[in-house]
Amino acid sequence: MHILLANDDGIHAPGIQTLAAALRRVAQVTVIAPDRNRSGASNSLTLGRPLRVTAAGERAYTVDGTPTDCVHLGLSCLLLDDPPDLVVSGINHGANMGDDVLYSGTVAAAMEGRHLGLPAIAVSCAAHQPDHLETAAEMTLRLIAKLDHHPLPPKTVLNLNVADVPLEAIDGFAVTRLGHRHVAEGVIQDRDPRGRPIYWIGPAGAEQDAGAGTDFHALANGRASVTPLTTDLTRRESLPDLCSWLDAPDDGAASAC
Ligand code: MN
Repeated sequence: MHILLANDDGIHAPGIQTLAAALRRVAQVTVIAPDRNRSGASNSLTLGRPLRVTAAGERAYTVDGTPTDCVHLGLSCLLLDDPPDLVVSGINHGANMGDDVLYSGTVAAAMEGRHLGLPAIAVSCAAHQPDHLETAAEMTLRLIAKLDHHPLPPKTVLNLNVADVPLEAIDGFAVTRLGHRHVAEGVIQDRDPRGRPIYWIGPAGAEQDAGAGTDFHALANGRASVTPLTTDLTRRESLPDLCSWLDAPDDGAASAC
């Protein structure tokens, strides 16, 4: 198996280094990662300037762009002669649960691999300064081993979140849905040294919907959370209602109007 490994914390982050070492025990791994921390980049592509790729060791490259740039370049250019079977992104320093997935560069990098034959995997450790990255790495290996026997459809992203605890403290996997957070904490306003106003976006809000079945609940109960994500944002249950009040035909084959 050939794995393309990316992240959003940048190639020097301990999270991607730990995961690269673990994955190399079971697969050929090509690392393509941003040259600096691009957390919060979501699915952005760099379109207004060219990208530069720099070799960073054996089968490792940095890109002066976003996480999505990295995987896009890998799949559509750099690895055309040696296409990966799987895209893995992480290990992110910090959880990506609930509404975090909308902003996450870690999840976005995995999403960019969704057209491959296997589901892509985003991996996050629920601590910004993690002490137990090996735990998330080991849980990733276990998840990949299970995919061998239980294939999921392509265009699926598995969002894995693991607590920052020793492996023996993890009580297996829980399959979850995304929870929800309260709105983010307020923007911090201050002045720069020359007196000009500056604004610093605050941290994510606390958990709001963290009940049974959610990713938040799984981690709070000692499990590693696996949420299947898809990239189709269509709210299908709203189609009939929208057709009726817009008085418009539904162009779908199975017309609800
Ligand atoms: Mn990050």
